[in-house]
Amino acid sequence: MTENILDQITNLYNLPIVALRGKTLFPHTLLNFDVGRPKSIVAISKAFSKDKLVFLAPQIDALIDNPTPKDIFEYGVVAKIKQIIKGSGESLKVSVEALKRGKIQEITAHKEYFSGVIEECPYIESGDKDFDTVSLRVCKKAFTDYAFSDARLSPEIINTVLKINGVNEFMDNALSVVTLKEELTQKMLSISKTEDRVTEFLEIFSKELQYLKIEKKISAKVRANIDSNQKEFYLREQIKAIHEELGDNEDDGETLTKKIIDKKLPKEIEEKALKEVERLDKINPSSPDYSIILNYLDWLLSLPFNECTIDTENLLDAKAVLDKDHFGLEKVKQRIVEYLAVLKLTKQIKGPILCFVGPPGVGKTSIATSVARALNRKFVRMSLGGVKDEAEIRGHRKTYVGAMPGRIINGLKNAGSSNPVFLLDEIDKLSSDIHGDPASALLEVLDPEQNVSFRDRYMEVPFDLSKVMFITTANSLDTIPYPLLDRMEVIEINGYTNEEKLQIAKKYLVPKQIKNNGLKKSNLSIKDDALKAIIDNYTLESGVRNLEREISSVIRKVATMYAENPETEKQIITSKNITDFLGVKKYVKEDLNRKNEIGVATGLAWTSVGGTTLNIEVSVMHGKGEILLTGKLGDVMKESARAAISYIHSNAERYNIDEEMFSKRDIHIHVPEGATPKDGPSAGITMATAILSALTKKPIRSDVAMTGEITLRGNVLTIGGLKEKSLAAFRQGIKNIIIPKGNQKDLEEIPKEIAKEINFITVSSVQEVFNTAIIFK
Ligand code: ADP
Repeated sequence: MTENILDQITNLYNLPIVALRGKTLFPHTLLNFDVGRPKSIVAISKAFSKDKLVFLAPQIDALIDNPTPKDIFEYGVVAKIKQIIKGSGESLKVSVEALKRGKIQEITAHKEYFSGVIEECPYIESGDKDFDTVSLRVCKKAFTDYAFSDARLSPEIINTVLKINGVNEFMDNALSVVTLKEELTQKMLSISKTEDRVTEFLEIFSKELQYLKIEKKISAKVRANIDSNQKEFYLREQIKAIHEELGDNEDDGETLTKKIIDKKLPKEIEEKALKEVERLDKINPSSPDYSIILNYLDWLLSLPFNECTIDTENLLDAKAVLDKDHFGLEKVKQRIVEYLAVLKLTKQIKGPILCFVGPPGVGKTSIATSVARALNRKFVRMSLGGVKDEAEIRGHRKTYVGAMPGRIINGLKNAGSSNPVFLLDEIDKLSSDIHGDPASALLEVLDPEQNVSFRDRYMEVPFDLSKVMFITTANSLDTIPYPLLDRMEVIEINGYTNEEKLQIAKKYLVPKQIKNNGLKKSNLSIKDDALKAIIDNYTLESGVRNLEREISSVIRKVATMYAENPETEKQIITSKNITDFLGVKKYVKEDLNRKNEIGVATGLAWTSVGGTTLNIEVSVMHGKGEILLTGKLGDVMKESARAAISYIHSNAERYNIDEEMFSKRDIHIHVPEGATPKDGPSAGITMATAILSALTKKPIRSDVAMTGEITLRGNVLTIGGLKEKSLAAFRQGIKNIIIPKGNQKDLEEIPKEIAKEINFITVSSVQEVFNTAIIFK
């Protein structure tokens, strides 16, 4: 929220404003509503693209179509947009959570929407526990008396509200489920002190109860005059009239029944749907239950229970699509083709779920879209980053105010087919909290034994997910819960070398961006040396995402030239004029003739965004034999540091180190901030080298980088991620890499152009590391 705060002290926000018709929203509540008016659509879109915060205030007169600022009440709520679904035509179905009470201080009418300066007005708590307890009891009693006499409120909703503890939260929820005049709700919203709110709340509910009693008396009399046949006819006519008035006359029982039968749903689902229609017919259209059921039926009817696409028959065509969209990635493509071959023969997806693992920007998402294209299937993507509530996967029960299905069902609805390629992005970023464990919900989705009848909590009926082709992506395998990992086949997509990046840029990214920006090949040409300069000096990454961004930025500038002057001549972009387009260089390769230093060793680390070089610094100073560890070190790295020191200490004589160095000096090891390395033992030999160099005051060769685990006996153990690490060393222009002997087998996987340039030195003891890296003479 900080981004929006204009003034920290008085809590002012600048937010888009939406005028609500016939509805006041209170803090602590959720609401789903349709937005159809252009100004509201723009305001919602603006809010969604920024920080999802919007101010919702009721209109003074709900009948006004085009309100001006003075037609909007001053009190409303700051709300967070949780979800937006496209409705019919331009309209949107929006689901929001009201966070805080706010007051409009100043409103600006832009051409397309309203925005304003909003003052946050928190309730003033009573500060008296006894008062709150008694008030809550009295308010609940007043609400219960009223609510159970109001036929428009279902017992489920009443009970949900009654479970809330906290006076203001309870009052807000109670007020939001009953139908009250706008003046009353606005008055409640304008009162700050809890004591005054309680008084007003009790007054409102006692009055409303009186009105309800009078109303009931009158209608009882009227009813007595109409015989039962007439009564039903009268009520049905009334429902029809209300539907017509609302413009939704399509949704009367008859048309709904027809739609359900025509859709030829599976038996169990059809029965459930028809039962709901029956219930609908009996309910008053103005009750909240009515719209809940209507909404539910809408979901049932829009889900692709029977719809599915026909897969491409010819595997050669599929391979051609994969080749057309992506450079290289031969192993990945090969595995996908095998997968498709099995799918073609068995006609079912029974094998493990493919999981593409690799640093960002290496094409994990885009290869998944290609799989969909190759198969002629629809494509849905769901990002799991930050998902911690099980309900996001499995939905909320219908009885919750503002309930909706989870994102799996939502994705299938958007796909409009029951067999799409469904990408579960960033499966390593799932988390869990008190709202349940999304990983176990996902397990149910991915498990072929269970997903034949996946039950979303909201939908209640089973949906067959067995035809869906799930693909997942992750940056790292460490954080994927084991049971999920167990169901997946991991396909690694590694970072690219500069040569590969150049080819990807030339053959894919540049043509794609020229087309996206509305230009033609005849308008510009980006020479290879310019692309190399972009790769070297404007990006530092394993993938090609920033490369694509920078290329797009160059092309946009050229597009602007053509837009301003269509006569502009063809632009040739070279390494000489690239700074005109992208400004000063962002990265300059470290000076390769860097001096050999004492106490600084270059390690190679693995991070979730690819490999990186890591300088480890060690200083020795007067002290009491303490070891100081600072910077980005995980627990395993700290243990490695201690192991390194112990090894050197126990071999002190061999290195001519005086015992005093360990008892009267402090050793300080520092790993500078920067890319956060994965905690692991592979920095062991690097730390040992830096420590020995600092203790013996002998410099370390600056053209050597290293990776390897150290044992107390001074042996060097194998490490992981060698390919990513050597790519990082190569990017930094390092010529020699010390690696454990056990990793020799991995050298086969190192791209040729790197193997040619880098001298890999294999070692089995840390003594060999010292001999190579430290200049003893
Ligand atoms: P990820 O999902 O791995 O983070 P993306 O799939 O979003 O990465 O890829 C980023 C961009 O780079 C996309 O535009 C993609 O098409 C492009 N890209 C990545 N790898 C390749 C490749 N091998 N060939 C062609 N384009 C690629």
